[in-house]
Amino acid sequence: MFHSIVLVKQVPDTTNITGQVMKEDGTVNRAKLPAIFNFEDIVALELALKVKDKFGGKVTAITMGPPRASDILRECLYMGADTVYAISDRKFAGADTLATSYVLSEAIKKIGDYDFIFAGRQAIDGDTAQVGPQTAEKLGIPQATYVEEILDIKDGKAKIRKKIDGGFEIVEAKLPVLLTVIKGAAEPRPFSSKKVMQYKGAKSLMDLEKLTEGNPLLYIDTLKHEYEERNLFIPTLTTDDLPVDLTRIGIKGSPTKVYKIESVVLAGGNQERIEPTKKGIGELIDKLIDDHIF
Ligand SMILES: Cc1cc2nc3c(=O)[nH]c(=O)nc-3n(C[C@H](O)[C@H](O)[C@H](O)COP(=O)(O)OP(=O)(O)OC[C@H]3O[C@@H](n4cnc5c(N)ncnc54)[C@H](O)[C@@H]3O)c2cc1C
Repeated sequence: MFHSIVLVKQVPDTTNITGQVMKEDGTVNRAKLPAIFNFEDIVALELALKVKDKFGGKVTAITMGPPRASDILRECLYMGADTVYAISDRKFAGADTLATSYVLSEAIKKIGDYDFIFAGRQAIDGDTAQVGPQTAEKLGIPQATYVEEILDIKDGKAKIRKKIDGGFEIVEAKLPVLLTVIKGAAEPRPFSSKKVMQYKGAKSLMDLEKLTEGNPLLYIDTLKHEYEERNLFIPTLTTDDLPVDLTRIGIKGSPTKVYKIESVVLAGGNQERIEPTKKGIGELIDKLIDDHIF
């Protein structure tokens, strides 16, 4: 029986960036962008569910993000996750990877008792691929990146196949271990219609707070209790629930500031004929180096 915790992220649909996406303080105006489930995280969840199918155990999915990030947690429940946690607090906003991995590692310590941490190799917005390895470092556990498959789990060790340039590598790691997963590793299973019916009404604390806005007859504690009773409450971890150093979270804890984001549309420019000779190709490479393309 193994307990896997999966790090999932809601990301702006970067194929659809329009209008003003940056706020005055240099952070991304996520509310302005259509949001999607980072695909490699769905594959990471699929790998965790495969471990559960094969060896038994449970799967927990967690996300740090704004209130609407609970949308992807509901999708995790539809796919078969047993428990989900929203890590959400205004003080976490504007975090770079250092601050993000710090908060995630504190949430994982609070949840505790895990054998695997699964993450996507990369998120399509920040594109840094840093959060997985940074989280492993903060938890003091081994990590394997570019994971394609878990071959076996025996005697407290996992045998893992990972992608490398030009091939693959088989590595063995002592549990608990953090794995970052690549998109080709597995075909995500479809939502279970039974679980969609069961969890489509699931709500996080912020979702419930929104319900009470402008409705004096609705009390947050009563609502929370009611949703917990119906097993439809998405537990939410805030700065009150995690022993975090406030100088290491959010904008305060982020040495990296995103300066600017813009959509780059690659348009065809003037054409030039390259002689298919050693000299012609040589001149082309020089040009590409001069243009900092190489
Ligand atoms: C255009 C842009 C550029 C950026 N550049 C940088 C930069 O250079 N350096 C920097 O430090 N920050 C940068 N950021 C901020 C960065 O996006 C955030 O810190 C973000 O939370 C994590 O980094 P990432 O998106 O690169 O994720 P990655 O490191 O690529 O994510 C890898 C995996 O970690 C997990 N993960 C990541 N974020 C979360 C989360 N919030 N909740 C749960 N799991 C998560 C997911 O499994 C994900 O697949 C940038 C943001 C944007 C929009």
